[in-house]
Amino acid sequence: MNTLDLFGYAIDLLAVLLLALGLKGLSTVRSARSANGLAALAMGLAVLGLLLQIQPDPAAWLWIAIGSAIGGLLGLITARRVPMTAMPETVALFNGCGGMASLLVAVAVALYDSADADLVALISIVISVFVGAITFSGSIAAMGKLQGWLGTPGWTQSSVRHGVNITLAIAALVAGITLPGDPTGVPLWLLVGASSLLGIGVTLPIGGADMPVVISLLNSYSGVAAAAAGFVVGSQLLIVAGAMVGAAGLILTQVMCTGMNRSLVSVLFGGALGGSAPVGGGGDEAGYSRIVSCSAEECAMALENAERVVFVPGYGLAVAQAQHALRELSKLLEANGSEVSYAIHPVAGRMPGHMNVLLAEADVPYEQLLEMDTINPDFPRTDVVIVLGANDVVNPDAKNDAQSPLYGMPVLEVDQARQVFVVKRSLGAGYAGIKNALFELPQTAMVFGDAKAVLQQLCTELRSQGVGKVAA
Ligand code: NAP
Repeated sequence: MNTLDLFGYAIDLLAVLLLALGLKGLSTVRSARSANGLAALAMGLAVLGLLLQIQPDPAAWLWIAIGSAIGGLLGLITARRVPMTAMPETVALFNGCGGMASLLVAVAVALYDSADADLVALISIVISVFVGAITFSGSIAAMGKLQGWLGTPGWTQSSVRHGVNITLAIAALVAGITLPGDPTGVPLWLLVGASSLLGIGVTLPIGGADMPVVISLLNSYSGVAAAAAGFVVGSQLLIVAGAMVGAAGLILTQVMCTGMNRSLVSVLFGGALGGSAPVGGGGDEAGYSRIVSCSAEECAMALENAERVVFVPGYGLAVAQAQHALRELSKLLEANGSEVSYAIHPVAGRMPGHMNVLLAEADVPYEQLLEMDTINPDFPRTDVVIVLGANDVVNPDAKNDAQSPLYGMPVLEVDQARQVFVVKRSLGAGYAGIKNALFELPQTAMVFGDAKAVLQQLCTELRSQGVGKVAA
């Protein structure tokens, strides 16, 4: 091992450390942006470390440099151009790229460098091809569904899909078992084909609203595929980084399932909440006996006199793109002397961190975003709660009604507050497709309308009362 090799390994080690720090930093909103930068730096260092370790081979350097430049440029353009609302599709696409990279590395080694490969390397090739192909095709199918390019074919909703998927899984298994005896022949291509089709077969039946969980799981798979590719090419860096991504994706998947009160099995195969609910949830408006509605003017009067106000953002806020109007209202209330905070449920919206991203876009201060466990004990001393396009995440049945499909799901306990205003367009249900007991409580009033329009009306009302004049 020469000096350049040693230097390369030291850079690898630094890259792993930075990647671990990056992952850790992503756990808080405040540090997430810089953590992302650290992780990107780690990836850059990983490429540099590799270049040093494979010296002296200018031809290989050139290929890696060209690949990194093209990939980096595409990533940069995509990241700059993609709207926040299309983030789940983008993450799916990036996961797919990770899976495809591992698949291609394993196929290349199988075709050109497997003559002297030992059993561990051959098994790693099988795992990398299998998981990489499922990740690639599954992620592309997920992206296509989220973009509305792909529907849910009828056969995927019947038992036919299980027959098809089991057949594909058996074909992949047979190919995987026979591949070590013939790494360049039919088993390799059978494994690539069967695994790719299996990825599509398991993703296609899943509804759009369940897709974020699947994307998180596919993210974990891309890490597993990368770790297996690390064994194939003997890269410790790839093994460690892949294992970290695999574990992080799995933890996120688990957190999302717990937050939605669903098992992973029911997400993947349909179940608990009646399979996959439609995005945006239309729902049934019947079944409510005691509903009090009020105007934006009445809501503004309550806000004007409130010392402590908590906003609960949900999927409807994102649909209405009302984050800037909400920030405007918060500023007015703060100028009026109210203490303002935002209650963030882990699965509010349709993707992990959806509300954090949305509110960060409107420059809401991080310290005002309070996680569910932090804010729940504060609701009894809250004067006014404004629920903005949220529904399931504030449903008290999750605590009180053992028959409710949501029973057991941790929710924001807004029913403990003195006064609650629910801003939404109708009595329609949310993602879970069920009634919300909050709407009928004596302290609740509905303010019907689009979240953005209502927030703008509230700002107008408060301004007409002279609120915010001094601050402006
Ligand atoms: P939700 O329960 O889906 O309810 C959203 C509400 O927004 C609807 O009831 C809808 O009522 C209202 N709405 C829609 N457009 C609106 C607009 N323009 N203005 C005002 N309101 C509007 O949302 P949530 O409380 O955020 O709960 C999230 C749900 O999604 C949970 O059940 C969670 O398990 C699930 N989920 C979350 C994730 C994640 O990662 N965050 C992933 C998958 C699934 P109207 O139609 O009456 O207006």
